[in-house]
Amino acid sequence: MKKIVIIGGGIAGLSAGIFAQKNGFDSIIVEKHHTLGGECTGWDRQGYHIDGCIHWLVGSKKGTQIHDLWTTVGALDEVEIYHPESFLAVEHDGVIVNFYRDLDRLKSNWLEISPEDKEEIEDFCSDIKKLHSFSVPSGKPIDMMNIFEKIKYIFSMKDVGPIMQKYGKISVKELANKFMHPALREAIASFLPEGDYSAISVLFPLGTFTSGQSSIPKGGSKALANRMVERYISLGGTVEASCEVVETYIEGNILKGIKCKNGKSFEADYFIAACDAKVLYEKLLKRRYNDPEFEKRYNNPDIYPLASNIYIGIGYEGEMNDIPRTLKFPVESVDIIQNQKPIEHLQMTHYGYEPNFAPKGHTVITFAINQFRPELDAWEVLAKDKEAYTKEKTRIGKVVIDAMETRFPHMKGKLKLLDVATPQTYVRYCNAYRGAFMGFWPTISGKVLNHTGHIKGLDNMFLSGQWLQPPGGLPVAVITGKDTIMRICKKEKQQFVTL
Ligand SMILES: Cc1cc2nc3c(=O)[nH]c(=O)nc-3n(C[C@H](O)[C@H](O)[C@H](O)COP(=O)(O)OP(=O)(O)OC[C@H]3O[C@@H](n4cnc5c(N)ncnc54)[C@H](O)[C@@H]3O)c2cc1C
Repeated sequence: MKKIVIIGGGIAGLSAGIFAQKNGFDSIIVEKHHTLGGECTGWDRQGYHIDGCIHWLVGSKKGTQIHDLWTTVGALDEVEIYHPESFLAVEHDGVIVNFYRDLDRLKSNWLEISPEDKEEIEDFCSDIKKLHSFSVPSGKPIDMMNIFEKIKYIFSMKDVGPIMQKYGKISVKELANKFMHPALREAIASFLPEGDYSAISVLFPLGTFTSGQSSIPKGGSKALANRMVERYISLGGTVEASCEVVETYIEGNILKGIKCKNGKSFEADYFIAACDAKVLYEKLLKRRYNDPEFEKRYNNPDIYPLASNIYIGIGYEGEMNDIPRTLKFPVESVDIIQNQKPIEHLQMTHYGYEPNFAPKGHTVITFAINQFRPELDAWEVLAKDKEAYTKEKTRIGKVVIDAMETRFPHMKGKLKLLDVATPQTYVRYCNAYRGAFMGFWPTISGKVLNHTGHIKGLDNMFLSGQWLQPPGGLPVAVITGKDTIMRICKKEKQQFVTL
């Protein structure tokens, strides 16, 4: 039986492990952290559960390929799905713009707000609807398809192509500016900050959300990852946790073994790096196998930007069922980290739909404050001074509670800070390059990466995970984990099986 060592037990590593076992390999997942799931996680604080990931999961709709994949890996087996009525509600000057799941409702909400934008609203909604026929392909990677499969694939993308062309070359800001009403402009612009970010990042999420393909599995992110761990172990897979891989041994073009910080070492026929790409190329392969596709992206952060988060958990002594699940609201200009642009809005999500996430009658709330290049640099510097770093986290927590109490005066005295995670938290726990929570973001000047995971110069090692295709996220992780096992099966000249 051939042996596979998988470095990293996030969603990509778990997916690879599950398919390795199904295909008759003997696999082991070697994970740095004491628990598996990677960035798809959640944690408990003071009687509350902070869900640290899923706001929308592409693949939650039965009958799609990606749903079948999630089910095969145990993530969605018999799991109740929560369908939020709105993707996001954005408040501007007292007007609330809703990105409703029901596209007709979205259209009438927007027309009511701004009848003078009728033409743009109709065009926007009609383009979102065109994406309803699209579902994320997750059968076979394109480079492994035969000519007939390629033709079928191209045909299945026939509605997507024109939308990619139309929105791939305009920025989010340009799309927003097509609308006359400031609240609609603000709502669209709130998807990403000013810059080169492609408007595709607005269209695709709304396309999958309004077609019911991206809702939320009940129980949250940690429970989803745990179900995958159970599936992996039930198939005979082995887990070695709290075991950070720090070295590789290479002979010719074959990786022979890896060594971990705790002194353990592992040998295998194949190795899958389901960890951060930068960790792989820089730390594990010591820059000897650098890939120009990744180099180009690391060296041009304006064209290939990355985002991380400040993620704040707050407990509320009360219920919030009358407040939109995810709401972006204006706040008095707030400094978040020294010398950086102050923020003018906060985006909160409450988990009223998950009663088990909070004590009875209480609700847990999370705030995600996206962080980009200048802020990521500032966090890197600040984290070196432990005292200042902790102080800043506490200050941010207080600022957010104050802003929440100003916006919702009835909550005064009933909010308590549970936790503040920063970009450096993702670096510390997941080895995530710059704390990135997705891959490279699509921009109008950037080229779309579609990496096979092959490492040039090494015959028995592959990369899997969110870095292989933009913008990353859970679907890319689960798909690329499976794809890697397909590639190994091809090398072994054996039929790939999913059952
Ligand atoms: C706040 C937040 C919200 C998000 N919301 C969504 C959402 O709503 N929908 C969505 O699709 N995606 C979302 N994402 C993104 C999603 O979580 C990630 O894209 C996905 O989990 C990445 O999976 P991965 O397996 O590729 O990588 P990771 O999760 O980063 O897993 C890599 C694993 O490798 C381990 N590792 C690293 N280096 C080593 C080493 N040297 N040795 C051993 N182990 C190592 C890490 O500890 C980690 O467990 C969100 C992320 C965050 C942080």
